[in-house]
Amino acid sequence: MSTFTTSFEFFPPKTAEGIEKLRDARARLAKFEPEFFSVTFGAGGSTRDRTMDTVLEIQREGYGAAPHISCISSSKEEIRALLQSYQTQGIKRLVTLRGDVPSGEVSAGDFRYAAELVEFIRVETGGHFHIEVAAYPEFHPEARTPQADLANLKRKQDMGANSAITQYFYNADAYFRFLEQCDDMAITMPIVPGIMPIYNITQLARFSSICGAEIPRWLKMRLEAYGDDMVSLRAFGIDVVSELCDTLLAWGVPSLHFYTLNQAGVITNILENISADSSQL
Ligand code: FAD
Repeated sequence: MSTFTTSFEFFPPKTAEGIEKLRDARARLAKFEPEFFSVTFGAGGSTRDRTMDTVLEIQREGYGAAPHISCISSSKEEIRALLQSYQTQGIKRLVTLRGDVPSGEVSAGDFRYAAELVEFIRVETGGHFHIEVAAYPEFHPEARTPQADLANLKRKQDMGANSAITQYFYNADAYFRFLEQCDDMAITMPIVPGIMPIYNITQLARFSSICGAEIPRWLKMRLEAYGDDMVSLRAFGIDVVSELCDTLLAWGVPSLHFYTLNQAGVITNILENISADSSQL
């Protein structure tokens, strides 16, 4: 019996094959009895219908379903309509984000930052939704200072966020130190660590260069040394991420949120390692 809860993040698939693959991944991850499955949302509404379809399918299957919603390049009218649809469909949880401006485009939306979207959701829908927001233990790439980024997280809480999910990290100390700073700033909502399994070093390095999550030098060099040997790379990645989860759980985190990239295998291995480790305590 797990002493911690899980949640799993998917992206909305584009093809019939992708939809089938995701159904299979979801069925395999369901055995961990996650609190919810979340589904990402393309900035500017590019995945609006696919996010909605995927979320409603998850809900019909009887699982907790949480759409992500991002505000950049969106109007208040568009967001209002989306909120009404989710409310009508009985969705109760939203992962609420600013989103990223596609390169070169200037945002013509009504919102500049996620805190404004949180405020808008509360004004429009009261306490209907549990609102999750993003947090950054290694700080958001656009943050002027660490303190400014923490102040932004506090603003999101003050506007009505219930909990936060972090950007992924491989350095547990960055997360622990971040929690201490949140405590100092009276950020009291739960801040659930986001866990990125290691599937592929090229892809991971690309994500990290965009979102500012550091791949420690020792880890990057070890991963690069596997070259095309993906089997060994994944086995090593499973060890590293299982240890990270063990460290977080030993410290007392009650929940883990996994970035699945719509795959179940590696995460299943990680969660089975964690269970095996905790049963030996
Ligand atoms: P904000 O909280 O608005 O912060 C953005 C930046 O602005 C920060 O640097 C902050 O310090 C700064 N800032 C905030 N307010 C002010 C102010 N008043 N003055 C000056 N600076 C300010 N993206 C998607 O497009 N779709 C998704 O589905 C998605 N899911 C995600 C899920 C998680 C768990 C996480 C961690 C990220 C996700 N993202 C997603 C990425 C996210 O949209 C980007 O990281 C984006 O750049 C910032 O979003 P935010 O909600 O953190 O923005």
